[in-house]
Amino acid sequence: MKCVICKYGETQPGTANITLERGGAMMMIRDVPGEICDTCGETYHSEEVTSILLKEAEQAYRSGIDIEVRHYRKAA
Ligand SMILES: [Zn+2]
Repeated sequence: MKCVICKYGETQPGTANITLERGGAMMMIRDVPGEICDTCGETYHSEEVTSILLKEAEQAYRSGIDIEVRHYRKAA
């Protein structure tokens, strides 16, 4: 699909590292599948992937992390 950020690039399937922050806690999730713009690098995720990311982040924040790095995994 066409990228809505730069309006020039086309997105390609790939993986990206996503960083989420909340209240001073930071979490990075590696190898998240999505569509990545070949021009500006903007990453698009499906709703399914987004909800998994949010769930992972919620768990991590609740266990009181400062910084955590995880690998993406499908529905736990
Ligand atoms: Zn773009």
